[in-house]
Amino acid sequence: MIKQKKKIRFESLGIETIVSNGIHYSWDGEIDNLHDHATQLRQRYAKKGFYKDNKDTYDDIEAERKQYGDKINGTLSRFYKFQLHPPPRSLGLYIHAYIRKGLSKETAIFVRGHEEAHALYCLGKAHLLGKEVDKICGTNGFTEEAFRMMNPIHDIALFELIANYGGRHALVLAQLAEKINIKPEEIIFVLNS
Ligand SMILES: [Zn+2]
Repeated sequence: MIKQKKKIRFESLGIETIVSNGIHYSWDGEIDNLHDHATQLRQRYAKKGFYKDNKDTYDDIEAERKQYGDKINGTLSRFYKFQLHPPPRSLGLYIHAYIRKGLSKETAIFVRGHEEAHALYCLGKAHLLGKEVDKICGTNGFTEEAFRMMNPIHDIALFELIANYGGRHALVLAQLAEKINIKPEEIIFVLNS
């Protein structure tokens, strides 16, 4: 049987890609309470038999709330991926990204780009971001190739490094579209703030 394909779009990065029908990406936008949203998502997927990872169960939701408390609301954004396990028994991957309400315009653009780059990495498609970075920087395929090499190496430092490229790329696109007015050195500042 031929698997059906569909297109998903990472708006902040200006990237579209073709994926299997079982893969879903949702940009949930600006959220009042990150923890409540995470809890709702986890409850919704747990009822369907989806888990954030193999260790999670429905009961863990309240344990996580106790462990992290309000800390989760101190972060800028969250990224969740739910999957049915184990493949190939079934295939389903739901990725949600969202950010805290009330961030500055530039920070909101950066963190959305950061989270959308995480989503690309999870789909094994970090090179698509590298390709866009090459177009802007004139680096002639170097970043695309570097990200292609990095993607299978599941290392948290690389994961965050590539995500920060996503954040900066989102700022560059917003600047080019004249949605913001920010100098290149300030893009670095947003990254570090
Ligand atoms: Zn991150």
